[in-house]
Amino acid sequence: MSKEPIQYQASCMDDYDPSSMDAQVAQQHILDSVYPVQESETLAIRDALGRILASPITSDLDVPGHTNSAMDGYAVRGTDLPSDATQRLKVIGTAFAGRPFANSVTKHECVRIMTGAVMPTACDTVIMQEHVQLEADEIIIDDQQQAGQNVRLAGEDIAKGDSVFQPGRRLSPADIGLLASLGIAKVSVIRKLKVAFFSTGDELTSIGQPLASGQIYDSNRYTLWSMLSEIGVEIIDLGVVRDAPELVEQAFKNAAAQADVIITSGGVSVGEADFVKETLANLGQVNFWKVAMKPGRPLAFGQVEQAYFFGLPGNPVSVMVTFYIFVQAAIEKMMGGTPRSRLRLQASCKNQLRKRAGRVEYQRGMFEVNADGSYSVTKTGAQGSGILRSMSDANCFIFLPMESEGVAAGAMVEIWPFDSFR
Ligand code: AMP
Ligand code: MG
Repeated sequence: MSKEPIQYQASCMDDYDPSSMDAQVAQQHILDSVYPVQESETLAIRDALGRILASPITSDLDVPGHTNSAMDGYAVRGTDLPSDATQRLKVIGTAFAGRPFANSVTKHECVRIMTGAVMPTACDTVIMQEHVQLEADEIIIDDQQQAGQNVRLAGEDIAKGDSVFQPGRRLSPADIGLLASLGIAKVSVIRKLKVAFFSTGDELTSIGQPLASGQIYDSNRYTLWSMLSEIGVEIIDLGVVRDAPELVEQAFKNAAAQADVIITSGGVSVGEADFVKETLANLGQVNFWKVAMKPGRPLAFGQVEQAYFFGLPGNPVSVMVTFYIFVQAAIEKMMGGTPRSRLRLQASCKNQLRKRAGRVEYQRGMFEVNADGSYSVTKTGAQGSGILRSMSDANCFIFLPMESEGVAAGAMVEIWPFDSFR
């Protein structure tokens, strides 16, 4: 930044501050400062999708429980397979899934078998029905079969006593199915994180109310509600709070009394921070940062009574960016899991992007997959931090690093697809 003329720096004080905090340092500091909730609850597995396991899961069963056929075909004894020429085997019965063939199978005999049916005793090999010739009650097999083929062995997926999942695992649809396959009906999961939020600002009106002169509708609470809903926390919406010290103090106390996390929007920018700072000085330990990023420069983080507190800027785009960059991973950790890694891709940028060195930027773009499998990205219109349409039209951030001084059309940029934040 030192190469910028002094006057230029001064005129852009709101955008650049040499004492700004590095966004990654802030992110790491937040992540290191928060701890998971400990309480757990027991839920039916269908209610546990997306929840975090509190106790390890081990299997009481072999999966599959029996050695069974992977194909529709004929169960044979490996010792009957011809090493050259062909071999005739007599079909002595049928094994269905759930209805095993109970008799014994001796030399040059076989059993018609369906996928999933238990292998008859003495049989160790299945020949696909497409690979045999059927003549009356006999099949003719060739010399191309391998002993042991097309059979799933008991316990080959999971053996009895195997550790299946460790605590901290976020349960996916496949996990829920796997639990069911083990006969597990209930699991112990970390209780839901309680997140309270409110908006601050004399200019804010809640939807459903008429707009008075100079008022705007509060959109941040709805954006926050939506982002928190996608993570799966218990949401406590405390509404709009006027810019009055006693009301803000009351709102913080009320939030801290019922939530693990408090998120506010507005009231952390230079003009407003002092008043919120004073209020919070009595209630907890809070740092007010200027982060070297755009959008979303002002950010407060700390503790209000026993709750973690995130004070996000008021601008609608800044709320979303700071939530995704600073709050979301911290919430994932507080929920008892491991913050998910976010997808980062290289894309060729169709527009020129303007930027000044000295801060990271999260511009908004719409990426698409090209015919050759590579990606390209187009910026979504005006990038002001109050222009929510730039987020709404976007499907990714275009991340521009600290040192970048802008991007020429056609250059490669790093994109962060929103799908991996959801
Ligand atoms: P602040 O950080 O409080 O100075 O607010 C910055 C800008 O964001 C101002 O233009 C506010 O009117 C706007 N803003 C603050 N809170 C909200 C909100 N909840 N919904 C929509 N816009 C907001
Ligand atoms: Mg405000």
